[in-house]
Amino acid sequence: MRIACALVMTLSVLSSVVLPAQETLAAEPASIQSQSIELKSSMDKLETELVAKYGESHRARLRRGMTQVANFWRAEDGDAAAFAEFVRTNFAGEPATLDTMFSRLQSNLEQLDGHMGEIGREFRQQSDLDLGPILGFDDLFAAYDPAAHLNDDFFKNKLAFVVLLNFPLTTLEQKLSEGDKWSRRQWAETRLAQRFSKRVPAEVNLELGRAYAETSKYIAEYNIWMHHLIDEKGNRLFPPKLRLLSHWNLRDEIKADYSDAKDGLAKQRMIQQVMDRIVTQTIPAVVVDNPNYDWNPYTNEVKPTTVKDFDESKAISGPGVSLNAPEPNTRYAKLLVAHKATRKVDPYSPTAPTHIDRSFNESREIPEARIKAILEQVLSSPLVPQVARIIESRLGRPLEPFDIWYNGFRPRGTYTEAQLDEIVAKKYPTAEAYKKDMPNLLVKLGFSKERAEYLANNIVVDPARGSGHALGAAMRSAKTHLRTRVEKGGMNYKGFNIAVHEMGHNVEQTLSLNDIDYTLLEGVPNTAFTEALAFVFQGRDLELLGLEKPDAQSHALKTLNDFWGTYEIAGVALVDMAVWHWMYDHPNATAAELKDATVSISRDVWNKYYAPVFGKRDVVLLGVYSHMIDSFLYLPDYPVGHMIAFQIEEQMDKAGNIGREFERMATVGSVTPDLWMKKATGAPVGADALLAATQKALTDLAAPKK
Ligand SMILES: [Zn+2]
Repeated sequence: MRIACALVMTLSVLSSVVLPAQETLAAEPASIQSQSIELKSSMDKLETELVAKYGESHRARLRRGMTQVANFWRAEDGDAAAFAEFVRTNFAGEPATLDTMFSRLQSNLEQLDGHMGEIGREFRQQSDLDLGPILGFDDLFAAYDPAAHLNDDFFKNKLAFVVLLNFPLTTLEQKLSEGDKWSRRQWAETRLAQRFSKRVPAEVNLELGRAYAETSKYIAEYNIWMHHLIDEKGNRLFPPKLRLLSHWNLRDEIKADYSDAKDGLAKQRMIQQVMDRIVTQTIPAVVVDNPNYDWNPYTNEVKPTTVKDFDESKAISGPGVSLNAPEPNTRYAKLLVAHKATRKVDPYSPTAPTHIDRSFNESREIPEARIKAILEQVLSSPLVPQVARIIESRLGRPLEPFDIWYNGFRPRGTYTEAQLDEIVAKKYPTAEAYKKDMPNLLVKLGFSKERAEYLANNIVVDPARGSGHALGAAMRSAKTHLRTRVEKGGMNYKGFNIAVHEMGHNVEQTLSLNDIDYTLLEGVPNTAFTEALAFVFQGRDLELLGLEKPDAQSHALKTLNDFWGTYEIAGVALVDMAVWHWMYDHPNATAAELKDATVSISRDVWNKYYAPVFGKRDVVLLGVYSHMIDSFLYLPDYPVGHMIAFQIEEQMDKAGNIGREFERMATVGSVTPDLWMKKATGAPVGADALLAATQKALTDLAAPKK
């Protein structure tokens, strides 16, 4: 079951710690070694016996299957005799038996996933939907995961071993070099086996879970009280009570300050200084999430506050504690917690023996070297200085480092937000009204009338508690759910815009489960793909309202905005990647050493790709991202996501008919990202579409307005 938008990130992060099965385990305890010697001699005898029974052509498949099983077999699973009996009973020696086994596994696993998904959805009903107060126990239901122990159960009852004995585990190299030639059934078998490609000891998973919780908590509580920031003249630039979470809220405040003609620039510079202090850990510890102190981030002077703009009681440092004592490298100590927990998984993952390998080869299924090359292609593109000069002329001043978050490329709409709100509220007074109109909306997007009806019938519309999300199904008898927010006076424009985005997810979810040849291939390669498909819908929301679509100039501005955002996050991703390599190269590093390394990596990336454009060296801002601490090498997903979105959008433009093209793309299924993209657009994942669109946007902007 897939939840788009809301929880997707956490889930994909957790899945990046999954493990493949391997030829031999790297650091095996002695008892396992002696057991594998026993299993090995048992395998030799079984090979002779079963090849005699089924024929020579089955030798390689049998050997592979037995090795895969042996790699996960533990003493608790039985002795060599039990292993032999298991292989004899469960090896599908006849092709017809193998076919039956494949179909039955596929159908039973669909039922399992589907019903687990239904339980999860029902249990989260009170939390997710606009159904009145949430009581304490509702949260317990919402947090309960009925599928949490499935992997353990399936190894215990040996169904996982049945799969491993009969279907192949594959490496990323195999998928990349041979995957083009695999049949769809082979791909489905690959995904089937992959479900059981890991058996991480419970205590290792537990520690990993604790590391995620500990780092998220650190990030979630890292607030800066803005009214307590003092400039050199003693002024408070920010309003009372404003408490901003690092780094997201701080960054968004920088973006918002572009429209503050009076104090905007001073505020932005001050936030940049705060961020610098966070990265270098020269921030005084007492000012983190604490409004009892006033702080000048330039001089680093701290004093007890003279204004009270808060209600909660917050700790005041006792006597003897220096107000200027810097945060004791806690940021990097937390990152080390993350790193050490992931390293515990390494011994169970010999062909992807580091978290870096697992993150790229297993979770993303794109090799790290390729992603690095794609990021560098954007960072060193000659389009960067061209866009930078446009920003400078729009700002009327030279760029400053925080302008990596420039957000002024916003298109001017023909309609005001209030006008749009009115149009939408009239059209959709209730969620029911939106539901009823879905077939029309889909026809407008180019789906045939029959297909539009079919798709709309597969989407249940629910009133969301939050802003909205799309909840996929995992079995064909179930429906997808579109959660949308409708205010008392009817839906507003923002709600409509989100609903259209979520509907894009729902349509993808329906097609990629119900209309695909094998349910084992259900879905898309990763979240970037479903997001890109949802953006295709969302980007056409005005046309769906029967209004004029944005003109070429607006479209060009939007493209430049995306390009600049990709340029910014591509550097951040490179920093994230280099820091993880550094941690692996220095396994005994202290938090202080990790800080120094991160600061120097951030500066290096800045000096190489940003300093020539910004005219300033040694900036550390790229190291401020919170996800660098709590999401374990997740950041490369962002820039790659932008590129995927441009590739899909470019293909939609080329094809003209969105409906037909959407159906074709959404039924490719969960093959590797490159193979998916080749089937969808003719080229592997890359930056070319983004760069071409940016070039075109520059040309369109330079053209005289009609
Ligand atoms: Zn989404």
